[in-house]
Amino acid sequence: MDLFEYQAKDLFAAHGVPTLPGEVAATPEQAREIAARLGGAVVVKAQVKTGGRGKAGGVKLASTPDEAQARARDILGMDIKGHTVHRVLIATASDIETEYYVSFLLDRSNRTYLAMASVEGGMEIEQLAVERPEALAKVGIDALVGVDAAKAAEIADAAGFGPDVRDQVVAILQQLWTVFTEEDATLVEVNPLVKTPDGRVVALDGKVTLDENAGFRHPGHADLVDRDAADPLEQRAKDKDLNYVKLHGAVGIIGNGAGLVMSTLDVVAYAGEEFGGVKPANFLDIGGGASAQVMADGLEIILSDPEVKSVFVNVFGGITACDAVANGIVQALDLLAGMGEPLTKPLVVRLDGNNADEGRRILAEAAHELAELVDTMDGAARRVAELAAAN
Ligand code: GDP
Ligand code: MN
Repeated sequence: MDLFEYQAKDLFAAHGVPTLPGEVAATPEQAREIAARLGGAVVVKAQVKTGGRGKAGGVKLASTPDEAQARARDILGMDIKGHTVHRVLIATASDIETEYYVSFLLDRSNRTYLAMASVEGGMEIEQLAVERPEALAKVGIDALVGVDAAKAAEIADAAGFGPDVRDQVVAILQQLWTVFTEEDATLVEVNPLVKTPDGRVVALDGKVTLDENAGFRHPGHADLVDRDAADPLEQRAKDKDLNYVKLHGAVGIIGNGAGLVMSTLDVVAYAGEEFGGVKPANFLDIGGGASAQVMADGLEIILSDPEVKSVFVNVFGGITACDAVANGIVQALDLLAGMGEPLTKPLVVRLDGNNADEGRRILAEAAHELAELVDTMDGAARRVAELAAAN
């Protein structure tokens, strides 16, 4: 998960990295209030998850609250490389004597961590790496040792930081390393890190990518998710603790067990070729103990996807037997009807495994007009693809 600059700088500040105070505004009026509160000159910065905001006109200085309001009005709503600006950061402006670059990242190809640093910051790092590779120091980091004072000094010296800032940079590199490790980041980048005319070194920009696989260790990271940008169906599924991934096909898929659902996606895509390339619309694993409520939640999410034309419920009864799942499906359909969202798209159910006969009997007896049972997984996949193509 990539963070906004203001979120990255909040993490920096929490780990002692010097930054300048600032707050986020969604309206020009808020920008004005924040600028007045901060006092003095401010910088108004588009909060979008892409680089090159400065060049695109998304970073502007303002010397008064009125000017901050005007610049915020210019920048809010702007499109920067396909990202609409919904918020701006209003931060105390800094005078800049020199711009530097520092970063830590996960170096997958070398199976290690890497530090990069340059005393020629400001320009985009990809460009620097191509045009002046000798100006970009790269130092590998032993994961078991990390960045201690000696390692930080090695990085600073490799990049050629002068004696005027070396001690500050050595301290900042260690603080940024604690951001990297303690927040479980895969990227921490500061471009520019600047030296001010009075000799202080400050992070003026920040880019952080967090490892979502480590999210369970960081309950606070959930608050950093950009809910505006998240797929609304995925967000609703997440709120209901469903293991759902939106795809872009026409066949809604529900199954129990990640492996079964993955193979269901394959089988449906394969069967769909016969019907003009019908594809699965989502991944949804409702897990072992599929209660009626979980089945209803899953169906509700899938049926509200306008791309879905038919739904495949593929269940292999194990510890939770097929009769319990069948009862779950029947109750789920009743629940949905009760919520005023009755089934309107054809549903194909394949039940196999523990107590399959009883499960099929329960579904047959319920005899829902839009639900049909097919005995085999391949047969059900073919039928559900056919229904999607016809619908
Ligand atoms: P990016 O273009 O998306 O990387 O956005 P940055 O936050 O790096 O800002 C772009 C450029 O704006 C920086 O390289 C600085 O030169 C300039 N800038 C950013 N903040 C300030 C500030 O407080 N004062 C001054 N004078 N320039 C700034
Ligand atoms: Mn930058």
